[in-house]
Amino acid sequence: MSNHYPFTLPPLPYAENALEPVIDARTMNIHHTKHHNAYVTNLNAALEPHADLHGLSLDELSRRIASLPDGLRNPVRNNGGGAWNHTMFWSLMAAPGTGGQPSDALAKAINAAFGSMDDFKKKFAAAGTGRFGSGWVWLCAMPNGSLAVCSTPNQDNPLMAGLGDCEGTPILCLDVWEHAYYLNYQNRRPDYITAWWGVVNWNEVSRRFDAAGKR
Ligand code: MN
Repeated sequence: MSNHYPFTLPPLPYAENALEPVIDARTMNIHHTKHHNAYVTNLNAALEPHADLHGLSLDELSRRIASLPDGLRNPVRNNGGGAWNHTMFWSLMAAPGTGGQPSDALAKAINAAFGSMDDFKKKFAAAGTGRFGSGWVWLCAMPNGSLAVCSTPNQDNPLMAGLGDCEGTPILCLDVWEHAYYLNYQNRRPDYITAWWGVVNWNEVSRRFDAAGKR
């Protein structure tokens, strides 16, 4: 996978049916090969005339969103964000029963920030059900060492400046666009979120939490 222009669609880290019954194979196939792929393709098309930016990674494009040329900012915001967010999202899921548990350090941080694991899940789910229209929910390691839950619209992510309470290092994310769940759950976004906890890859969330603390 290329980490600069032209970007390529990274493969899923598991089979399309690996997350069943929580996320069905058809949803995964369309989500990855159509939606995620379109973000990558459209990002490359937007960047094509801007040779001076061809060395930038997806991380750098998001972090520099505010300083990009006027006509490029929104295409990168939507498609660069879409490319980055989905790659992170796939990495944070695993077949039911295989995602492990939060590390001791992460569990301690969750308890300190939210009171308990259940209270964290309630807050995260509420951010997802409360997101009007399309967007994402994030768990971020904040600069002061604590954890925070926030939500972004569309394909925005916490790397993009100017998001207020969302400017941390994301360690967990959830796609609450209808395309992520509609085939299986139709309009029942809360049911999708409840079931989704069963495929969270806590080993990877814990790894990202440790890495954020070393930045
Ligand atoms: Mn999506």
